[in-house]
Amino acid sequence: MTKQTALRTEQVEQPRRVERLVAGKPTSDGAGVKLTRVLTQPLQRRLDPFLMLDAFGSDRPDDYIAGFPDHPHRGFETITYMIAGRMLHRDSAGHEGLLENGGVQWMTAGRGVIHSEIPQQEEGVMEGFQLWLNLPGRDKMCAPWYRDFASAELPRFTTAAGVDVTVIAGESHGVAGAVTREATAPLYLDIHLPAGSRFAQALPAAHNAFVYLYRGALKLGDDAVPVQRMAILANDAQADGVVIEATEDAKLLLIAGRPLNEPIAQYGPFVMNTEQEIYQALSDFREGRLAA
Ligand code: MN
Repeated sequence: MTKQTALRTEQVEQPRRVERLVAGKPTSDGAGVKLTRVLTQPLQRRLDPFLMLDAFGSDRPDDYIAGFPDHPHRGFETITYMIAGRMLHRDSAGHEGLLENGGVQWMTAGRGVIHSEIPQQEEGVMEGFQLWLNLPGRDKMCAPWYRDFASAELPRFTTAAGVDVTVIAGESHGVAGAVTREATAPLYLDIHLPAGSRFAQALPAAHNAFVYLYRGALKLGDDAVPVQRMAILANDAQADGVVIEATEDAKLLLIAGRPLNEPIAQYGPFVMNTEQEIYQALSDFREGRLAA
């Protein structure tokens, strides 16, 4: 898709406040991939419908080379956004895709997927994000779904202020994103602001929303957000959106969605509503039924 200008401007009269800044936790996952878990389990209720956000970024092959060998998922969706690097995905539903520089992979695990995510590079930078989006209880056992978007296929626009926006999900400034979801109405934007520029995005007050700044520095109202921090945006009833001001050249993710307000039962890669459903997922996995 070719780059376009914004189709309309977003009106924001009462920007949201920053409720909290979060640094994330250094950890490792898969076969030893080093990453920062930005959205951790204790924040799942607060940021419902989002369950996890991992940021990975390293130029040391030891930090990523082992990748994520075969592992299962059930009950939610994973959205992987690769800023730099190459990763090969293969899954039990027969999907295969190479995810690289600026591409997005959207996978709905539904009733069950077993997949691997393996780096296709032995040196250089690997950088990106994986977001977990919950499914409503009625959809948790749906058929798996998968789609790759190369960077060139993702909808993009530039504002009059020179802000470049990639619309991974939802809609911004009249530009529809690559994916829409009815139940949770996720908005997922990658926003690049030149120093001194400003970007406004309308958001429904009840939707949970956060910013993750991965380059530069910015301000949300009077609050400075340092690099590699998540800013959780308050859900004040009268607030109608977010206004971001870049104090340096800045790159960030803006993520928002309608909460499901359902019980969350998680055991590792399975996210269901009840413990009983988790036991079922475990026994289905052990007995080879999860992705059958
Ligand atoms: Mn996975």
